[in-house]
Amino acid sequence: LKIVRSIADFRYPAPGSVGLVPTMGAFHEGHLSLMRHARQFHDQVVVSLFVNPTQFGENEDFAKYPRDLTRDAALAAEEGVDIILAPTLSEIYPRKLGSTIHVPEVTSRWEGEIRPGHFDGVATIVAKLFNIVRPEIAYFGQKDLQQTIVVRRMVSDLNMPLAIEVLPTARESDGLAMSSRNAYLSTEERSIAPGIYRELTRCRNFLQTTDATGTEVEDVLRRSRSSLEALGFRVDYFEWIDAESMEPVRQKNGATALIAAAGLGRTRLIDNVLV
Ligand code: AMP
Repeated sequence: LKIVRSIADFRYPAPGSVGLVPTMGAFHEGHLSLMRHARQFHDQVVVSLFVNPTQFGENEDFAKYPRDLTRDAALAAEEGVDIILAPTLSEIYPRKLGSTIHVPEVTSRWEGEIRPGHFDGVATIVAKLFNIVRPEIAYFGQKDLQQTIVVRRMVSDLNMPLAIEVLPTARESDGLAMSSRNAYLSTEERSIAPGIYRELTRCRNFLQTTDATGTEVEDVLRRSRSSLEALGFRVDYFEWIDAESMEPVRQKNGATALIAAAGLGRTRLIDNVLV
């Protein structure tokens, strides 16, 4: 495993197909499953590790985001990763004001509404990583559903020459979606946290087994929001959406998903399930 800190040092040791897994580090099974999958299909597997300041809001956790390159490198090595690209801040953002990418429409709601500028930060860093690494395929987790839709839209709008693959959400045994931010949860919060996935699956089962009408759908969504509030969550959204446009839906027509985001103590959790 090679750890590369500067863009100039980023050279492929051999020609062949390249797979990229973009990350912010603090690896867990979700990240490792992406690496393991990529390993099967490429000559070179590159993992980028960069805690990207431009996708964090003013009052978010950029400063305290967990960072441990030594631990992460050991885990990536076990998965057979070839290169970790862990550039410094000034490598990636040499100018105070650089060019940015804004993806319209699919960024207007949900995470995009609650975290203004977040997806400009995501789209711009992902585009930069695609240009530096030039992968054939880049791998993303279903866990961040809106992010995958934003990245796909950017690739399509800008004719970027690569494919995007989205892999399933890795979960703890009680259903909680793995996330680097789970480390912020207290013991009590950790025991409450699986409630989000429980409500998502309860709703999914209802929607899949019932031909629910508009108001029945509203009711089941409202009940889940209330259950989560009663557990101590501050619910940002709990919605049924079209998995391409991110617009709310009230009946199944094409790919849809249930998406949720909620605060619990100092931690904000997001999750989703396909319906
Ligand atoms: P992050 O380091 O949080 O930016 O995540 C890097 C990549 O790993 C993104 O594509 C995430 O969607 C993906 N990821 C994060 N958590 C999970 C998970 N629990 N299961 C699968 N993929 C995940």
